[in-house]
Formats: sequence, C-alpha cells, structure tokens
Amino acid sequence: MAKIVLDFNAYKHNLEYLATFTGDISAIMIVLKDNAYGHGLVEIAPLAAACGIKRAVVKNSHEALKICDFFEQTLVLIEPNPENIVQNDKIAYTISDLNAITLFPKNSLVHLKIDTGMRRNGIYIKELNETFELIAKQELNLTGVYTHFYGADVLGSDFFVQEQTFKKAKEICKKLANKYGFDLVFHSKNSSALLRGTFDDDYARIGIASYGYTDLHESFGRFDLRPILSLWADKISTRKVLKGDRVGYTGSYKVAQDMIISTYDVGYGDGLFRYDGKGILKVKNNQHILGKMSMDSLSLQGDAKSICIFDDANHMANFFNTITYEILTKLSPHLTRVVLH
Ligand SMILES: *Cc1c(COP(=O)(O)O)cnc(C)c1O
Repeated sequence: MAKIVLDFNAYKHNLEYLATFTGDISAIMIVLKDNAYGHGLVEIAPLAAACGIKRAVVKNSHEALKICDFFEQTLVLIEPNPENIVQNDKIAYTISDLNAITLFPKNSLVHLKIDTGMRRNGIYIKELNETFELIAKQELNLTGVYTHFYGADVLGSDFFVQEQTFKKAKEICKKLANKYGFDLVFHSKNSSALLRGTFDDDYARIGIASYGYTDLHESFGRFDLRPILSLWADKISTRKVLKGDRVGYTGSYKVAQDMIISTYDVGYGDGLFRYDGKGILKVKNNQHILGKMSMDSLSLQGDAKSICIFDDANHMANFFNTITYEILTKLSPHLTRVVLH
C-alpha cells in the first residue's frame, strides 16, 4: 500500500538545528497547520512534543482539538466562525480584526495579530489603543501579540522594514499590557525570517524548516535541514510491453523497445500533482514515469516490489514550478503514515 514514511531522527535534527537560532527548543512554536504540511497532524504532534516543543500552531479548532493535549498551548490562526470557538485553557485564538473582538466569548484565550505590511489579517498599529481597550472590555485573556512577514524569503528591504515596524508595535503593546494587566509573549518569525535574521522575540513560529526545507536563496547561506518525509508506492502488476505499444490514458507514452514495466499504487488521487506525460519526471530511483499518471496509479520500467516516489519535495516543486509547501500540503490525509524511529 502506498505510504508516507516520516524520519524521526531527521525531524529531531531539524528542531535541534533550529534551536541554535532561537537559543532553546522550547522557543519554537511548531506550525502544524494543514495536517502538519501534509505530513500528518496526529503523527507529527507527538514527535514534536517528544523533542521538547511546548507550543503548536494550527489552522482551526478542528485541528487544535486533535492535538492540544500534547502541548501547553495551541494557537489557532484562523477561526472565522464564532460558534466553533472552544473554551479550553490550552487553545488560544487569533484576533485578526478589530471588529471580531466582540465575537469572542468572555475569558477566551487570545493572541492579537498586527498587520505590519502584509495587508491580509491583523490590526493596524494606530488601532492598538482601541484594540486593547476593547479586549479588556470584552474580558478576553490576551496572552500574545504577533505579526507575519510577507517578504522574509526574498532579497530586499521589506523584511527589515517590517521587523522595525513590529519592534515599534511591541513597545506600544508592552505599555498597554501594563495598563490593562495582560502578560504577553511576542512572536513574529516564520522559518525564513528566523534563518535569515536575529531573534529577539519569545517564540518563533516554525513550519517548513522543521520539515526540512527552506525557500531561501543560497545567497542567504547554507542551512543544515533534512527532509523528513518520503512517499512510497507498492507494485500492483508487472507486464512485458512491446515496441510500439502505448501506455496509460490516451496512449501518450509510446514504447521504444520491448521492456518490462510495472504499475504502482499511487496517483494524483493521493495528492500528487498530475503528471501529464510531458517532459521527463523521474522518481527517486531515476526511472521516468511512463505516460500520464492515473488517479491511483503510475507506471515505471522494471519490476521492483516497492519504490520511493520522492524523498525531497524540491524535486517535485521544481518540475511543477511551485513551492515545496504546495507539494507537501496536497498529500492526501488518507495515505498511511509510518514513523521511522
Ligand atoms: C504558515 C505560517 C507560519 C509558518 O511559516 P513557515 O514559512 O512554514 O515557517 C508562521 N506564521 C503564520 C502566521 C503562518 O500562517
């Protein structure tokens, strides 16, 4: 059966390496949103906890409820439906909009997101006074303030401008926290921002780097990260095909000489990008995928019992002209996950 294999030692290595940037592993908030970037939320959460991670970040309440017992606090990034807010002292919610404050039930644990340039979510710095007043009036338990960088993985000054803007915001928040009696932690950096810069917050929110990847250009340095996921498929059948035969839908692959081919149990229905038979897409053992990928299968030369489709998402991301994040998050939650210790 097709499966995802997760390498615990590589994961631990990545977290320990990232801790050299934060000073301590417990200063990493591990980002487990979107099924832990396709790796498997319930598989990765206990591994993170075993490495000493105390805080997690997820997309919504649904994800938070699955894993909150592993951590001291789990932060929800997006929960637009107030009826889904869970009153739980281990789950914190993000306030992304001034107008959303009154939707939170009294005593909700919340972090405030500040817009320092991305212009998607978060309140403006000029709204901070009003925001703190409203949060206090609503009797919410504000415990954190954060921002998100929109240009941390590209060359240019935008990143530094945002960093300065957040510094300013922090000072204002500290004064307001004193006034209203809130005890705050601050966090701003995602993987690229942490690898690229200095660290002077309480936490960094680390996603992609923990899984072994960075989108930072080589000019930023070389980073000792190891991909932790590999995708494997099992052989369904083997046959001999003859010169002139055509393989797969629309017969787009024409057999140039007699050979043995096998068909394996993974396809675009498992979350792989659909290879349409154009260009040469190789799996890990260097074999080309023969013809169009089917929903649940693909064909390769040879008769190996099991094959590794990829163990480095960069390979797929480069071929399909996208980012590793997208290759990984698309992997089906229905694939079996196995942890290698
Ligand atoms: C996804 C996300 C992160 C993690 O980003 P990486 O680049 O994967 O480290 C951090 N913060 C927020 C708000 C996010 O949405």
